[in-house]
Amino acid sequence: MAIERTLSIIKPDATRRNLTGKINAKFEDAGLRIVAQKRIQLTIDQAGMFYDVHRARPFFGELTEFMASGPVVVQVLEGEGAVLKNREVMGATNPADAAPGTIRAEFAESVGENSVHGSDAPETAAQEIAYFFSGLELVG
Ligand code: ATP
Ligand code: MG
Repeated sequence: MAIERTLSIIKPDATRRNLTGKINAKFEDAGLRIVAQKRIQLTIDQAGMFYDVHRARPFFGELTEFMASGPVVVQVLEGEGAVLKNREVMGATNPADAAPGTIRAEFAESVGENSVHGSDAPETAAQEIAYFFSGLELVG
């Protein structure tokens, strides 16, 4: 399988509870390398641009307000099949459905406040990485 990069976000519910290190350990233990990382505060508009695909969903307002409710850690993860591997480490969107040992099973508070985001395909990963990082910030 090819070496890929994927965009990960540690969401405000997790930064608020000081879980950045525990979540990063899950990524590293799974063989994913954190090749770029920064802690930022999104505006509601910036969160809305990022989750534009969900604009028509009933939870869009709740989602963008939550994503702007505190700092997030945006990061680029690299490794073999990184997009899928990260989705496996994250677990299902709803923590009630997430497999034991996954980030969402261990840390998520609800389907909305679910601790992490991960790109869902290599194409969206490339777009999402470019949304947050310049080429100069990706040193490998
Ligand atoms: P993400 O895109 O954040 O990695 P995902 O791909 O598992 O999550 P999506 O269907 O893309 O799930 O939903 C994006 C985000 O919107 C979810 O992670 C969650 O924070 C929020 N969300 C999804 N469904 C609901 C819902 N029914 N109620 C509230 N929030 C929701
Ligand atoms: Mg998604």
